[in-house]
Amino acid sequence: MMEIHRTIKYDADRVKGFGKEVMSVPGCEQLEGCIQCGTCSGVCPLSIYMDYTPRQVMALTRGDFKNEVLSSHTIWLCASCYACTVECPREIRITDIMYELKQRAIHEGRYPKRFPIPVLAREFSAMVKKHGRITEMLLVFKLFLKTNPFAAMGNWRMGLDLMKTGRFSLATEKIKQHGDIARMLDATDTKKES
Ligand code: SF4
Ligand code: SF4
Repeated sequence: MMEIHRTIKYDADRVKGFGKEVMSVPGCEQLEGCIQCGTCSGVCPLSIYMDYTPRQVMALTRGDFKNEVLSSHTIWLCASCYACTVECPREIRITDIMYELKQRAIHEGRYPKRFPIPVLAREFSAMVKKHGRITEMLLVFKLFLKTNPFAAMGNWRMGLDLMKTGRFSLATEKIKQHGDIARMLDATDTKKES
């Protein structure tokens, strides 16, 4: 279980405009209407492991507490099961807001270092952008290297077996027009301009 933050928040901790910025993203607008009922936290199967519950993340986001939400483990533990979104009485798309926060955290390099989920997300998208698809072997190698290199040693046998059965390849996989993928991703990458 993560450490629970119970520190008092002050007005000086706010990054004015952050909440409005998030709520201006299509799909995130309804956050304004959050009534802090806590249904999202109640139905979330992972909230007991989170440093901030989904309800708290919604409140902190709307309240401009950018540093707290972007540095939280919660956004990375969210498994995108959509239970909160389905149950929210105000039809707030909590899962999509979590995605928006994850994206912002990656762009600002704010994710917890050596925490596998954001590292995997970043390496995965960088590889797709470069080659149009991923090379599993390389992705796993980078993940171990950037999170827990010692864990690789405990898994070398499995890697070898996967290579023998052709499930893992050492060759870099790429599609023909991979430049098109990069251009498409750049075009949808709104954070680059902000
Ligand atoms: S369920 Fe919806 S309204 Fe209730 S706290 Fe969560 S986001 Fe807010
Ligand atoms: S989508 Fe994420 S925050 Fe919502 S209930 Fe599932 S794990 Fe929890």
